[in-house]
Amino acid sequence: MPDAPSEFRYKRVLLKVSGEVLMGDQPYGIDMKTVAKVAEAVARVAREGVEICLVIGGGNIFRGLSKAAGDMERATADYMGMLATVMNALAMQAALEKIGVQTRVQSALTMNAVAEPYVRRRALRHLEKGRVVIFAAGVGAPFFTTDSGAALRAAEMGCDALLKGTSVDGVYTADPKKDPSATRYDTLSYHDVLAKDLKVMDASAIALMRDSGIPIVVFSIREPGTLRKTLTGKGTFTVITSDAKSA
Ligand code: UDP
Repeated sequence: MPDAPSEFRYKRVLLKVSGEVLMGDQPYGIDMKTVAKVAEAVARVAREGVEICLVIGGGNIFRGLSKAAGDMERATADYMGMLATVMNALAMQAALEKIGVQTRVQSALTMNAVAEPYVRRRALRHLEKGRVVIFAAGVGAPFFTTDSGAALRAAEMGCDALLKGTSVDGVYTADPKKDPSATRYDTLSYHDVLAKDLKVMDASAIALMRDSGIPIVVFSIREPGTLRKTLTGKGTFTVITSDAKSA
């Protein structure tokens, strides 16, 4: 694998993609055209030498805390949510391999027939070899989300940044889809995100990134080319660090 060119700000990153992104314009499920677009963006930076791993959410299929779960015991519903993330991870793997990118899926719930079990040192080795590692099943425990899984894996992999690919180009003062006067933050501190209760990621994920000193970069993954732009510091996004001046 070539070393990432110096224009990249981060050499090893974890990209969190929520299930919502993968459903494209559909109300539910996996839209393979959208998955292919995300795979293209990932392939592009991986080919340039950026070490990249992915955590995929499952909200497009099942969430533990959803109406669909009815009065099911929370832990059972959460395990179903974790299984949903495995389906998404396999879809992403298929899309990446179709365009010639070597990948490995590692699952926090053992599922030997479809994925490697999560083994930290093995995942590190895959990254060093230029493979894209897709982490499935979050942290492998109920009462958590894939945001926490993303933060945990980013810390374990020693990533330079946790990228959150969403459908908006950063963190706003209010939901820009509902409030046209909402403005985007260029930078934020972990403290501000927690104190203002900005819905970026779960509080536990933010706190883990704060304690590990790993910046969180929120950007829109919907437009082509934005992943590369974000990694080279161009385009629009919000960076969350400890030293950002108070917003
Ligand atoms: N989940 C869990 N533990 C984890 C990760 C996920 O219990 O470590 C379950 C939880 O029910 C969650 C669902 O899997 O609602 C899908 O994940 P998430 O909501 O994070 O997906 P996203 O919102 O990113 O699509």
